[in-house]
Amino acid sequence: MNMPIARPIKRVLIANRGEIALRIQRACHQLGIETIAIYSSADKDLLHIKQASTSLCIGKSDANDSYLNLATILAAATATNADAIHPGYGFLSENATFAEQVEACGFGFIGPDAELIRLMGDKVSAISAMKQAGVPTVPGSNGTLSNDEQLNQRLADKIGYPVIIKATAGGGGRGMRVVENEHDLIAAVELTQAEAKAAFANGDVYMEKYLQTPRHIEIQILSDGQGSAIHLGERDCSMQRKHQKVVEEAPAIGISQQVRQQIGQLCANACIEIGYRGAGTFEFLYEAGQFYFIEMNTRIQVEHPITEMVTGIDLIKAQLEIAAGEPLSIEQGDISLNGHSIECRINAEDPQTFIPSPGTVTRFHAPGGMGVRWDSHLYQGYTVPPFYDSMIGKLITWGPSRNEAMVRMQTALNELLIEGIKTNIPLLQQILEDEGFQQGGQSIHYLEEKVLK
Ligand code: ADP
Repeated sequence: MNMPIARPIKRVLIANRGEIALRIQRACHQLGIETIAIYSSADKDLLHIKQASTSLCIGKSDANDSYLNLATILAAATATNADAIHPGYGFLSENATFAEQVEACGFGFIGPDAELIRLMGDKVSAISAMKQAGVPTVPGSNGTLSNDEQLNQRLADKIGYPVIIKATAGGGGRGMRVVENEHDLIAAVELTQAEAKAAFANGDVYMEKYLQTPRHIEIQILSDGQGSAIHLGERDCSMQRKHQKVVEEAPAIGISQQVRQQIGQLCANACIEIGYRGAGTFEFLYEAGQFYFIEMNTRIQVEHPITEMVTGIDLIKAQLEIAAGEPLSIEQGDISLNGHSIECRINAEDPQTFIPSPGTVTRFHAPGGMGVRWDSHLYQGYTVPPFYDSMIGKLITWGPSRNEAMVRMQTALNELLIEGIKTNIPLLQQILEDEGFQQGGQSIHYLEEKVLK
């Protein structure tokens, strides 16, 4: 377990698309690593393909025939003589079978061992592993619910209403249901089980205390799988719609350096204890000064740039170094947070109805200036295909203070010009102008209840 890959990485196959494929390629090229771009027939015009050392169409537009097709991706890696595969986020990034097969075929998987992906992919086993490692968790059922109705009633009474029923295999904010009182409990358990079975082919559910007004605060870690792990501070991702993050920031306001060190160290220690290798994120709900672990993401996350902006650490480069078997080159003492960073996710969607808006970008202008970062594969004339996630870019700003980061975000959003398709830029502008957002520290319900109402 956790044997570092004993050979240098010279060629990386990027098993993803869009902005993250470009982001990974940039890091590879900066390290002198060649890249192999794979793409679906709908994606032949992706920006990173042109600069990749090698590129290969791997299938049809449907992700099941391309970005989710294990066999084809492995065949592409073999044909192009890849050393390692970077899965990015989404698609196969948290698929333990894929990680296993990548390694079995002799390639390095840029991420943790399959066993750890499996452990963390099942929320019940993840919570139990974290509890054991000393990470604070939400009071709950400590395991999968049985069909014993009385037992479940007693459990909920003990935890205290409201409770939330969650699918152990859930993801993407799906497969959970809040229960306000005992009358609704049994039906809610059955319904969530049925939905989980249909959506994730696994009907197991568990119960947790439903926290009423928490913030979503997550800790970024890097762990080399050789006994060293560090944390890189936290991100506040409380601005959510339908459990999907819309705006993120680092650091989270109101978290003292002492609290940051405490919770961060618990996460780093847990990584060492479970033998974690790679970059990862511990997601917590934070309420009344307490952290409650909800899940760990065993991959790079969409919002990783805000951590990069305040720490100065390139997380994708760190992933590549760890995957090459190198010990961590940075120590905890080297990490300090400088200033404040905000990320806005730019989606091709109607800002009011949220209906995806694929199509051709007829005019485009990227924002710029001091403290502005634009991570996107968009260009004028590019056609956003209708087959994948609607996120088309990430606008990130940095400032010496939170206020400065917000002001830079406002001007950058005003500068960003995307014509031909609808985008959520107007909504993001509204959020940035919102008094409650500007004040900061809002709960995960704030956006839906106060801004989108
Ligand atoms: P997923 O893997 O689907 O993202 P999570 O367990 O991370 O699921 O939960 C997603 C979101 O659901 C959280 O960010 C939070 O908004 C809400 N949520 C999950 N568990 C709880 C809970 N115990 N109390 C309150 N809200 C919760």
